[in-house]
Amino acid sequence: MEKLSNPQVTIEILKKYNFTFQKRFGQNFLIDGHVIEKIISAAEITKEDTVLEIGPGIGTMTQYLAEAAGRVYAVEIDKNLLPVLAETLAEYDNVEVVNDDILKVDIAALVGDVSSLKVVANLPYYITTPIIMGLFENHIPTDSITVMVQKEVAARMQAGPGTKDYGALSLAVQYYAQPYIVANVPPNCFIPRPNVASAVIRLTRWENAPVKVKDEKLMFKLIRASFNQRRKTLQNGIHNSSELPYSKEQVVEALRAMGLPESIRGEALTLEQFARLSDIIGEL
Ligand code: SAM
Repeated sequence: MEKLSNPQVTIEILKKYNFTFQKRFGQNFLIDGHVIEKIISAAEITKEDTVLEIGPGIGTMTQYLAEAAGRVYAVEIDKNLLPVLAETLAEYDNVEVVNDDILKVDIAALVGDVSSLKVVANLPYYITTPIIMGLFENHIPTDSITVMVQKEVAARMQAGPGTKDYGALSLAVQYYAQPYIVANVPPNCFIPRPNVASAVIRLTRWENAPVKVKDEKLMFKLIRASFNQRRKTLQNGIHNSSELPYSKEQVVEALRAMGLPESIRGEALTLEQFARLSDIIGEL
């Protein structure tokens, strides 16, 4: 069949199946072939690759992925899309559509023992962070994650210390991967048009973690506490956290050991400094 990236083909398929968009599933389908080509090329998909697509929708990007990759697993929550996908992906024998919630799928069991897994998706924006953090924290063996997200979320993932977008998401993403914003994508590339601008970001997994830390969980608790109350100093943020047992004096002691001022805010610390703080405070 002609590709769904042709908006006319998408409109005809939607009509044929009398499809109604579900806002609660974040359904904004791509109708721009150039954007899809950019995503596929940024993900560097080859026939050696197994690809996990999260939320194939009507299969617009899946058609391109099936042509570029060795094997594609496409996990879609909306069962109303299954008959549509059966038609739009009929000519590809290397695609498996799974009707499930990506947050509940055992991805490692689904894809099996593969040499190279790449995640590619136009993500449902309402669950961007849990999806990305789930992939990282569950140690899914991905080489890279190339995804469409809200433009401001992409900016947060890539931000460095001292900038307005820097926060817990920046540090979490950068601990696991190297972010690179591939392209900005305006609302008119989707049907229906989202209310926000979008961007494609590629997260390339570090082979070795960029910082060494004794207790990863403690470091992430410290990071969360430091950014929970953005305008507060680090010592107040950590002291006020219900997840952490430290007094202000203990935080100050750790900051002194690092040669940092007591009044410092979380947004001034690098990932390396959070790792160091975690190692020091963990010994107190
Ligand atoms: N990939 C398609 C495209 O680019 O045209 C659709 C992208 S649309 C932004 C997001 C897709 O994710 C929708 O098809 C939606 O039904 C699906 N989705 C939403 N929540 C999901 C979840 N928890 N698990 C799996 N798929 C989900």
